[in-house]
Amino acid sequence: PAPPAFSPALEPREAAGAAAELFRQAFDAEPDGVWYAPGRVNIIGEHTDYNGGLALPIALPHRAYLALRRRPDRTIRLVSSRDAEAVEVLDLDAIGPKGTPGEVTQWASYIAGVAWSLEREGFTGLPGFDAALVSCVPLGGGLSSSAALECAAAVAIDEVAGLGLAGPVQEPDDAGRARLVGVCVRTENEMAGAPTGGMDQSASLRCREGHALELDCRDGSVEHVPFDLAAQGLALLVIDTRAEHSLTDGQYGARREACEEAARILGVDLLADIAPQDLDETLERLRRSAGRDGGPDPERAEVLVRRVRHVVTEIARTRELVALLQQADALSGEALAAVGALMDASHESLRVDYECTGPELDTAVEAARAAGAHGARMTGGGFGGSAIALVDAEAVPEVARAVARAYATAGFRPPAFLNALPGAPAGRLA
Ligand code: ADP
Ligand code: MG
Repeated sequence: PAPPAFSPALEPREAAGAAAELFRQAFDAEPDGVWYAPGRVNIIGEHTDYNGGLALPIALPHRAYLALRRRPDRTIRLVSSRDAEAVEVLDLDAIGPKGTPGEVTQWASYIAGVAWSLEREGFTGLPGFDAALVSCVPLGGGLSSSAALECAAAVAIDEVAGLGLAGPVQEPDDAGRARLVGVCVRTENEMAGAPTGGMDQSASLRCREGHALELDCRDGSVEHVPFDLAAQGLALLVIDTRAEHSLTDGQYGARREACEEAARILGVDLLADIAPQDLDETLERLRRSAGRDGGPDPERAEVLVRRVRHVVTEIARTRELVALLQQADALSGEALAAVGALMDASHESLRVDYECTGPELDTAVEAARAAGAHGARMTGGGFGGSAIALVDAEAVPEVARAVARAYATAGFRPPAFLNALPGAPAGRLA
């Protein structure tokens, strides 16, 4: 097969320069500044966010860069380097949610939609703006290129409109950023029409360099957990399966609905309310509900059992992995093996119980493990998207080659790769 193709992270100065140049070409003016926001990859804690559980993402060095200038009116003009000829022109007073007369194009919804959402959250009378986008977050790869757009727009508008929520990246205002997370989630749900939880936007706005973000999705509280891969001679290889996936195609929504149905039957608000030690008894209760008045049929009950088992065990695995990372020797010897085993177990749970992997994801994970990865799993919503493998830094090329070989053998499209190191959250380029 062809040698593995790596998507490099753009060097920040160069990327900001490119965004500013695109701005000048499109709008014949200087931007007020360039803001950026990273994509994210989740270490563990998958499909837990909408169940009130824990997730553990890192911010990628791959970011969206947005050169932006405030306007004196309520017009929004947008351009992306993906199609430098096409400038979208919108009116902040006319745009609205997907499926309404104010609907805008998908990509514009992620940027203009943030202004719309801010106004719905009470920050009314915002100025319009011109903005030019350059992003190196792979699109549709499960690495949240969409959240990167929203969060870059959020910190930019926050600053040019003088809202003062985000604070400088060196001294971020976490409470203000948590509010911006809510604004961006609203944008994704209502303007873009994707029913996602808050993990992506939290990672992009609230991470710290060299750390993973332990996110408690019940109340939005966070802990910054040391995850300095480079210092330990480790790397996180991200494998973009390039398999078709879409959060709006119904599967994601179906998983969410199954969780809500199970919670209703069990009489809990969120599946995160189920303690791991009560899991067996809880699953029995779910089985017994089958065939009762208003209950699921037996087959459906078995499906719900598997979904609940994934969510409850996944939250426990995430808690365990965080505890391991908080030890001094987290990323060497036995602890490293334990971290890898938790990642492997997460994948198995997503494959068997949550049924949201797929042949490309399973092949990537198996090939990476066979080539010496400490642990590997799918990441993101699933059904495609990306997998991650925790590997010794010097083994990255070899593991990537092994995955590419396995893909060629299986007849899949060649995968793409990137190197993930825990980066900084959204901010403004000085
Ligand atoms: P993911 O967030 O996993 O990458 P999504 O489907 O949620 O996948 O978001 C991808 C969408 O985000 C694209 O279809 C496009 O609308 C928008 N997008 C992302 N990056 C860019 C970009 N550089 N230029 C224009 N649109 C982009
Ligand atoms: Mg997305």
